[in-house]
Amino acid sequence: MAAFEYRGERLFVEDLALDELAARFGTPAYVYSRAAIETQWRAFDKGLGTTPHLVCYAVKANSNLAILNLLARLGSGFDIVSGGELERVLRAGGDPGKVVFSGVGKNEQELRRALEVGILCFNIESEAELERLNRLAGEMSRRAPVSLRVNPDVDPKTHPYIATGLKEHKFGIAMEDAVDLYRRADEMPHIAVRGIDCHIGSQLTDLEPFAEATRRVLVLADELQAAGLELSHLNLGGGLGIRFRDENPATPAVYTQLLCELLQGRSFKLLIEPGRAIVGNAGLLLTQVEYLKDSGAKHFAVVDAAMNDLMRPALYQAWHDIAPVYLRTDIESETYNVVGPVCESGDVLGAERTLRIAAGDLLAVHSAGAYGFSMSSNYNSRPRAVELMVDGSEVHVVREREGVAQLYVGESLLPD
Ligand SMILES: *Cc1c(COP(=O)(O)O)cnc(C)c1O
Repeated sequence: MAAFEYRGERLFVEDLALDELAARFGTPAYVYSRAAIETQWRAFDKGLGTTPHLVCYAVKANSNLAILNLLARLGSGFDIVSGGELERVLRAGGDPGKVVFSGVGKNEQELRRALEVGILCFNIESEAELERLNRLAGEMSRRAPVSLRVNPDVDPKTHPYIATGLKEHKFGIAMEDAVDLYRRADEMPHIAVRGIDCHIGSQLTDLEPFAEATRRVLVLADELQAAGLELSHLNLGGGLGIRFRDENPATPAVYTQLLCELLQGRSFKLLIEPGRAIVGNAGLLLTQVEYLKDSGAKHFAVVDAAMNDLMRPALYQAWHDIAPVYLRTDIESETYNVVGPVCESGDVLGAERTLRIAAGDLLAVHSAGAYGFSMSSNYNSRPRAVELMVDGSEVHVVREREGVAQLYVGESLLPD
């Protein structure tokens, strides 16, 4: 995490001190490092080397237009899961011809819009969706490029809420049904079969589930080719984990090397959909301590960021490193539960953290670049945080702090 490091007692993002950013822009604030984002994307792209490939950034991890635009400039593709994400990609200058569309519940409007702009591929999650797409494409006199998202039934050994590749999950098509459905797809007049897709989960720290899923997908690819179906690409999804605490996930270099080895001698174009591994450790949530409080049983640091800003700890019991922006030596350390102002006992950003802090101090909640802002809400009528992008010694406001009046846009009173 060289993008975030102490110089003397102060924590910096690239060449800017976080205390200065807090003074200029207030807290809570999401702060991203341009260099860190670009370095991570390039690591995937470079790792796939001469294997024909496309890195499709998973937009849901962080859909800020500036981030999408930086990645589009690098030549990135995009994995989207809604019509809203498609519009973001287009608005950010992304190439629709490099967009793949995942998700179990694509509605008619979303499918039509994606057909209209000419996306690269629909990742189909059910027979019913395939039929709907065939009909809509017919109405628009188009052929829709598709992959079927198969469910390889591999346990990714991650948190149950972010495991997606087991039979019990709502995602994908069971392996044993895949060949039949591919045959049907191939006969549909407005469907063009392009590839196979899978995505088994998120925050994977072990490479073996990726390898096993890939092997299973390759067995299916062989079966399909034997049945006379031509495939041009394999999409192996995203899911590579990052270090939050003491995890040791493979680097993008090691992960991509494994994929290249598994695909050696095959002529498929390889698509991957990393999200978290590109932006997760490229961002932090900057927050200020409002109060220190002692309940008799516990010490609390009440900060100005909350579960509405960063939902992962409450939703997944996720652990984020929480570090002081200024390293004090003048105060004894104490063990705190770092909590937000939201009226929920689950509003804990970090439990049992040993910190030397006083009221008014700034804290950095690390590894918050992915599934941080993008999962944020206005619960408790809290305006969403400002988002800042640091680029060397410059900072850009890439999303203004929400104003309170924005919270009730579109609401109205009943007539007298
Ligand atoms: C969420 C998701 C991803 C990205 O997962 P990460 O863990 O952020 O890499 C990729 N593909 C699909 C289909 C997803 O749902």
